[in-house]
Amino acid sequence: MKVLEQRIQAEGNILSDRVLKVDSFLNHQVDTQLAVAIGQEFARLFAHEQITKVLTIEASGIQFAMAAGIALNVPFVYAKKKKAITQGDQVYSASVHSFTRGETYQVTIVQDYLQPGERVLIVDDFLATGAALVGLADIVEQAGAILVGVGCVIEKTFQEGRGLLEERGIAVQSLARISAMSPGHVEFIPEQPLIVSSLNRTGAGV
Ligand code: 5GP
Repeated sequence: MKVLEQRIQAEGNILSDRVLKVDSFLNHQVDTQLAVAIGQEFARLFAHEQITKVLTIEASGIQFAMAAGIALNVPFVYAKKKKAITQGDQVYSASVHSFTRGETYQVTIVQDYLQPGERVLIVDDFLATGAALVGLADIVEQAGAILVGVGCVIEKTFQEGRGLLEERGIAVQSLARISAMSPGHVEFIPEQPLIVSSLNRTGAGV
């Protein structure tokens, strides 16, 4: 997504060769128009999947899951990192190790909000080690729901996340794919051009 790459180039702050700070427009202060456009892009990429629910994890995935939910006209649910007393015992849960915080926590979702057979799109801000998304994928499986794919706003392709998800047969779509970064410099993998076959365009084949 060109506009996203441009914002990362202009405003991203590369803290090390592994950590990118984008909290002026994505995950602390949020550019709401950009978040809406991101939601629409996820909806377009997964339009054929008859999604019934969008799932994310608090806190940084929430704005994108909401935008995707609005674009798809379905509810979104976010997994909580701390179990509240209001949740009761009927929860699905998974253990997740946080890449940025260096701690392991239990994420939970109340069972009522993820029903067997639901068609789920998982959305998050970053794909790094993949731990958060694997945890959410486990929860979808526990619920007997169907995971149609994962949408990430930013993927760091030099970390293992995509491999881990694809090993499990999960389809991954990322809107900006960073192949390398260092302070003051970020490289993206170019977007794949949309291939339209001659048969579709002319109806006559080549
Ligand atoms: P994971 O390692 O599980 O793929 O990523 C977990 C979470 O860590 C992401 O959802 C995101 O919130 C955070 N994260 C991972 N890499 C980065 C990064 O480079 N910058 C920022 N700001 N957050 C990150």
